[in-house]
Amino acid sequence: MDIRIGYGWDSHAFRPGVPLKIGGLSIDHPEGLAGHSDGDVLLHALTDALLGAVSAGDIGSFFPPGDPRWKDADSQIFLELAKEEIRNAGYRIVNVDTTLVLNAPKIGPISSEMRERVAELLEIAPLNVGIKAKTPEGLDADHVAQAHAVVLLERIEEAGELQTMSAVIQSQRELEDVVRDLVSQVHGVAVKAPFDTDDIT
Ligand code: MG
Repeated sequence: MDIRIGYGWDSHAFRPGVPLKIGGLSIDHPEGLAGHSDGDVLLHALTDALLGAVSAGDIGSFFPPGDPRWKDADSQIFLELAKEEIRNAGYRIVNVDTTLVLNAPKIGPISSEMRERVAELLEIAPLNVGIKAKTPEGLDADHVAQAHAVVLLERIEEAGELQTMSAVIQSQRELEDVVRDLVSQVHGVAVKAPFDTDDIT
């Protein structure tokens, strides 16, 4: 099985009066994550993990932070592009695992809702999404949210099967050519290919 691993990390500072969005989920909280886009730290880490898994660069190479088009952009756009990149490369997501590092809000009570939302966005089953959270003990990062994400990809079965089938057909044709050449040499005459309907008429 052809598999690939990807890793992504991101951080954003909290700012009062900004809507908080993590994992595509709107969370009721007095502060949000400051960023050029909607600051969804988890979706950014997942986007980088997906892009990294197929060596397709990172989120900044596709969506430069200074570009006004991505001001306050919904981070789902970034994730959709990354999903398309891995599809184009011939892969699909097996599972993802993530860890959020932040003091507040508490993720535990909303982790299953977040898991459902991330699964929906990634178009995979919730059992293939890990959502974990820790507080930033000793990191002096009380006003920051960090996200780590790892993804596992596997080559799309159909693409692999098609390649294998075409390889078999190719080798059968080559084999028939070799046999025909050998028969011609033995009999000293060219052996015609099996007749088709044109030969009958
Ligand atoms: Mg970011």
